[in-house]
Amino acid sequence: MRWERELIRAAREAAVPASRWLSSIPAFFLAPRNRMALLGTLALVLMIAGATWAIWRLAVPGRESAPVAMAGPAPVPAQDPVLAVPPPGVPRHAEEPGETAGVAVIVPEPPPAPPAPPSDQGAGTVLPVTAGLPPDPPAEPASSAEGLAAVALPAASPPWKANAVPVSLPAGQPVIAIVIDDLGPTRGPTLKAIALPGPLTMAFLPYADDLPNLTGKARAAGHELMIHLPMEPIDLRHNNPGPQALLTTLTLPEVRARLDWALGRFEGYVGINNHMGSAFSTWEPGLAVVMQDLSEKGLLFLDSRTIGNSEAESTALSFGVPAAGRDIFLDNEFEDPAAIWGQLRQVEQLALKRGHAIAIGHPHPATLQALAQWLPEVQARGFVLAPVSALVKADPAAGHLVQAKGADGDLR
Ligand SMILES: [Zn+2]
Repeated sequence: MRWERELIRAAREAAVPASRWLSSIPAFFLAPRNRMALLGTLALVLMIAGATWAIWRLAVPGRESAPVAMAGPAPVPAQDPVLAVPPPGVPRHAEEPGETAGVAVIVPEPPPAPPAPPSDQGAGTVLPVTAGLPPDPPAEPASSAEGLAAVALPAASPPWKANAVPVSLPAGQPVIAIVIDDLGPTRGPTLKAIALPGPLTMAFLPYADDLPNLTGKARAAGHELMIHLPMEPIDLRHNNPGPQALLTTLTLPEVRARLDWALGRFEGYVGINNHMGSAFSTWEPGLAVVMQDLSEKGLLFLDSRTIGNSEAESTALSFGVPAAGRDIFLDNEFEDPAAIWGQLRQVEQLALKRGHAIAIGHPHPATLQALAQWLPEVQARGFVLAPVSALVKADPAAGHLVQAKGADGDLR
């Protein structure tokens, strides 16, 4: 305690002469004989302000391109917590109606506030500094934006856009995306699902045979394609996710190798969603490897939400991966047509309330039969069927990057 009092006393003693000295400054400059000193000081201040402004202008391009060079995990802290982080344990479909505003959100970064330019032209000494500034300041942001696109974009349009099934979404009409999972291994049901009226989103298991042929048929029928990536469930002994699944016991390079194997099984997909995965989708290091890869390859992610506290969608958004989450499973009771119809009504209710809904079903006979009847009906009643790519959220932190890609693609 004593040393604290000592410190306070020392500070007080030091402050007295300092304040006295400060209060003498205005009197010094107001004296007529010191007017030249006043003008000289003003000129000096203006020169420093001008030089600071010039340095700031030169530094701007480097500052804008920095986030692009690190399109991966770097923008994590800048993401919008409202969009990207659902409360743990709460399924997304329980969210408030305001979520419509979150669809395809692209938030351009506001330009940094310009510093005050040297406004006083009275002091001639400022002129040499301002003359050294770039001649045409307004042209600079445009040229740095072009540089941004050239550096960050290997292709005209990322695959999640280039492979998307085009759809027009009339304002005010509720939008529904129906995803059929687990396609591929069972050929008969897969072909029946492909025959449904679309556009649907078809998620194929990567270990199935004949995938180029089956997925080609699905795409030709107007459906959007996804890879249904097997991930470790909690009860691995009783729920086998299949060969090449992503497991929490793998090393991170093994996770990436298995993902890349799956991504090479067929072409024309917009992204992936998880098959099972109640264990893997809460394992952040593994998810980070997956999302980094998807980010680099320009693919989207749909979180099947096989567990309430899945981290997958928020991790995807934090890596700048366009993402969405499943709202409703159609056929948890897959042998009960009445239960499936009940789920379809819930999809409609949610789409009416919130503007959009994403449902996942499987190629079970009762599901396919219900969908064959419901799909034409629901469209006749004013609902718009859309592929999943129409309902992903773009990460606000990477919004300028996604927007740059879109603008680039739209121009060609
Ligand atoms: Zn599945």
